Amino acid sequence: MIEVPVLIVGGGPVGLSASILLSRLGVASRLVERHSGTAFHPKARSINMRTMEVFRQCGIEEAVRAAGLSPERTGFIIWTESLAGREIERRVPKRSVAEAPITAAPHCLCAQDDLEPVLRRHAESLAPGAVTFETELTEFDQDADGVTATIRDARGETKIRARYMIGADGPRSRVRQTLGIPMNGTPAVYRSVNVLLNVDLTPWVSHRPAALYFVQQPGLQAVFLTINGINRWGFLINLPLAGPDEPYTPERCQAIVRRAAGVPDLDVRILGIDPWVAASLVAERFQSGRVFLAGDAAHTMPPTGGFGQNSGVQDVHNLTWKIAAVLKGWAAPALLDTYQEERRPYGKFVTEQSLRSAISMRRGVATDNDGPSAAADARPEFQNEIGMVFGARYASAAVIPDGTPPPTIENPVAQYTPSARPGERAPHVWLECNGRPVAVLDLVDFRFVLLAGERGSPWRDAARALSTSLGVPLSAYTVGAGADLEDPERRWATACEVEVDGAVLLRPDYHVAWRSRRGATEPKQVLERVLRNLLGNRA
Ligand SMILES: Cc1cc2nc3c(=O)[nH]c(=O)nc-3n(C[C@H](O)[C@H](O)[C@H](O)COP(=O)(O)OP(=O)(O)OC[C@H]3O[C@@H](n4cnc5c(N)ncnc54)[C@H](O)[C@@H]3O)c2cc1C
Repeated sequence: MIEVPVLIVGGGPVGLSASILLSRLGVASRLVERHSGTAFHPKARSINMRTMEVFRQCGIEEAVRAAGLSPERTGFIIWTESLAGREIERRVPKRSVAEAPITAAPHCLCAQDDLEPVLRRHAESLAPGAVTFETELTEFDQDADGVTATIRDARGETKIRARYMIGADGPRSRVRQTLGIPMNGTPAVYRSVNVLLNVDLTPWVSHRPAALYFVQQPGLQAVFLTINGINRWGFLINLPLAGPDEPYTPERCQAIVRRAAGVPDLDVRILGIDPWVAASLVAERFQSGRVFLAGDAAHTMPPTGGFGQNSGVQDVHNLTWKIAAVLKGWAAPALLDTYQEERRPYGKFVTEQSLRSAISMRRGVATDNDGPSAAADARPEFQNEIGMVFGARYASAAVIPDGTPPPTIENPVAQYTPSARPGERAPHVWLECNGRPVAVLDLVDFRFVLLAGERGSPWRDAARALSTSLGVPLSAYTVGAGADLEDPERRWATACEVEVDGAVLLRPDYHVAWRSRRGATEPKQVLERVLRNLLGNRA
């Protein structure tokens, strides 16, 4: 029997991210992945700003960027009759235009088959011997103290005893099925064939670099997906649910690619063909006892807008610090209940919105008699989903409300107003330390961080004392003119709507846990009460 604090099932982007996060939090884990290698097909490609912030915290932002393409190389979204034919429309995604003042971690296009090796390499280097491929979870059971799982590899079966288990085992999750947790929603929205190509498309694309080239022809809905922008491409053939079920052979795919390119003699090599069905489903629960669901195991959505992998990585960003807090004894197990309370509403929101975007793009609608009109049909929110990227707003016992109303937002998909209201992702501001720029969120190095205004040193001193007495990893700084962190124009205080003697407490996942807009007469008592409440140690 192998004993380990956390067992992670699934070595996709979500499981691998969970492994890295737990290692960075100082928690040992074991990851099992049934396949021998990482993803072959470049499914997800768009890594949004919120996910890049997670990778930045993990110290792998640059490695991910190096494996992907910079935003200048994917600046447009294009609709066209064929690559060589008439261009119908091009758009510049608004969410990337908006990113500079919002984050220190701009979005990145990195195909899943390029991303996963980066994640695997880092996961393995942080937890040598604990990331095991060709190893399958076959069954598990749980009791009051832990989970007992059976895993199988080439040498046979082994039992693992873990305090907690994360099911990041994808849309057909065995973990979820064993727990008997139903999925709610639409199990089949449209069919699609994901084709991986080796073809040089530079003559038709290099003058208009785009992330997506939608091809609209009567009887054909297809998309060229940029991977390296030169000779490695993804290609999706989108089909209605009903229709002939003829196999997509390499020869057939080759002919469709040539037709979509508008180049009859195009030299194209088919590297892989992966038929799949788009679904829109959310698990009824994300937790059962000591077992948690994350990523596609918890929510499966159409890829329109690119939120599947992104929301999964953000699930484990929310979950792992809580598991670490409980295992290390500075939080009560009740903190873990807040994972589902916080992530399920967000998972449901992005799943439903991804479905609406897919439907607006006429996914699943027969195109036999249609002309090329999908560009006009795509709802304006498509590729303009800044509210979906940053809009996770948590309400749970791991957030202490301050009585202020949420910011007024007319369109939660397309609008985001940075706010330090408890539950929101903390606003990004550049500060200065010893003459060097520091992003506020970079201070959150897997710890709580208390930031106080320039006259908020009583909050800072109280936080530092409590960190020692309660054993909670908590850093504290003042921010403003002449403060620990220089902010002469008080942009941070303005963004957080606090007075010079106010304070904001950030959680290790960048969300605001608590805010006092001004000073208090007994800051240590106030803060101690806040921390005990947050961490479930209400004594
Ligand atoms: C065409 C396409 C385009 C997409 N584009 C985007 C995009 O741009 N952005 C985005 O965010 N998302 C996108 N997605 C969605 C994204 O690919 C998924 O959301 C993502 O792969 C989910 O990651 P995961 O780790 O939760 O699950 P998976 O990637 O499915 O990984 C689960 C892993 O668990 C393993 N496993 C399963 N059962 C067991 C077991 N019993 N024991 C051990 N291992 C097991 C599997 O082998 C698998 O490797 C796209 C999807 C498609 C199909």
